[in-house]
Amino acid sequence: MFPPDRLQASCLIPGNRGSVLPCFPDTHSVSETMSTPTYQSEYDVIVIGGGVLGAFHAYFAMRQGLKTLLIERNVFPQQASVRNFGLIIPSAMPAGRWRDRAIASCEIYSELCEFLDVPLRRTGTQYLAHTAAEADFLKQMAVACEDSLCPAEYYSAEETIRSSCCLNPEFCQGSLFFPHDLQLDPDQFFRALINWIACTSDCDYLPNTTAITVESQESLACIRTSSGRTFQARHTFVCSGADLQTLFPEIYASRNLQYCKLQMLKLSNPENRTLGTSIASPIALTRYPAFLKAQSLQGVSLPAPDPVLQERGIQIWMTQNQNNEFILGDSHAYSTDAPTEFLSAEVESHIINYARKMFVKLEFEVIDRWCGIYTEAQSAGLFQQTLDDRIHLITGIGGKGMTTGPGLARENIRQLSLIQSRP
Ligand SMILES: Cc1cc2nc3c(=O)[nH]c(=O)nc-3n(C[C@H](O)[C@H](O)[C@H](O)COP(=O)(O)OP(=O)(O)OC[C@H]3O[C@@H](n4cnc5c(N)ncnc54)[C@H](O)[C@@H]3O)c2cc1C
Repeated sequence: MFPPDRLQASCLIPGNRGSVLPCFPDTHSVSETMSTPTYQSEYDVIVIGGGVLGAFHAYFAMRQGLKTLLIERNVFPQQASVRNFGLIIPSAMPAGRWRDRAIASCEIYSELCEFLDVPLRRTGTQYLAHTAAEADFLKQMAVACEDSLCPAEYYSAEETIRSSCCLNPEFCQGSLFFPHDLQLDPDQFFRALINWIACTSDCDYLPNTTAITVESQESLACIRTSSGRTFQARHTFVCSGADLQTLFPEIYASRNLQYCKLQMLKLSNPENRTLGTSIASPIALTRYPAFLKAQSLQGVSLPAPDPVLQERGIQIWMTQNQNNEFILGDSHAYSTDAPTEFLSAEVESHIINYARKMFVKLEFEVIDRWCGIYTEAQSAGLFQQTLDDRIHLITGIGGKGMTTGPGLARENIRQLSLIQSRP
């Protein structure tokens, strides 16, 4: 919570359900402010890495009135957090801790997008069935979801085809629709969020800077940067994503962390078609924890996809961006060594061929292609370790970082505040 005097100096944003967000000038003056920052040598909290985990740890620390510094290697983050679909999908999380974090994250994004004036698409997700067994499974799942915090509606094959512009009637046997799933443009969102928090009196942003060492010195953490600066903080959050080599490489090497490289495509939409929702292929039913848990509850075991697709970890998502272009992905290549950013033409053609089975009447050309890399803690769902009570390493959130990162960051900062307020 902001101290009372700050609270009065801030403005309550109308329509924000009583939450308190400080009021800022428009984006121009924010950028100007960022170009002439002055930095202190000591902070309450220093966060390393401006991806979803780092940006939200900095945001919540700043909201607690903790004097915060966010250090990012690039001008703005350029890694997994801005290369993804921007899907915030509680639907993929099984009931429990991660689903709760996903639902909390939806509320956090809703509030922030409204405040930052960043579009948040509330189009929901449609998970397709291709076989009768998959359709039966989704029908049962809809019943089980009825009273949950993540409700879903079963659509018959005809209803599904009618609901979208270009689904293939020969492919689609029905679908499960989750209306509360969200989508945003991650690059736009993180630029706006970082611009804004950097303009508050409680947060400084140090872009274009790599943290090269973090060490405990007496009761503080001491951070040295590539530009030769030294900072100290009571707490440091190291949210360095898939960079496991610059800071604490020996700790990461001894843990069960693996890399995952994903390939993505942007497709033209010459006929300006509208999908209506984000659409997931039936492969999701054999891949995402929520569906795996539902299979075990129903005593069902859906067959794995074609081994070629399975080997390349292909799960098809089709979404649309603000320009109505299609975003199509993705594949998952796991490794223990850091992957290159080279793209595989073979993987790309598997993705496109599968999409062509799901959709008809869809003209497109590939207009962009890229990959993104995240780390995954193989058994735990997250790698989180605290050194000397003040250096917190957080990575390995896998493919759910956009969906659950804000909720997780809020929990961590609340925990920190509790520790600090102990006598
Ligand atoms: C293609 C793709 C699609 C995805 N789709 C979705 C999706 O739709 N929904 C979803 O929930 N999740 C999705 N994910 C997963 C999600 O993107 C990741 O879980 C999340 O972005 C990881 O965030 P992070 O902050 O840990 O890492 P990153 O985004 O990698 O951020 C780490 C940041 O730290 C900086 N950094 C690293 N080391 C240093 C240092 N020493 N000093 C300074 N800065 C440093 C880097 O420059 C980087 O900006 C997807 C991932 C990919 C790759």
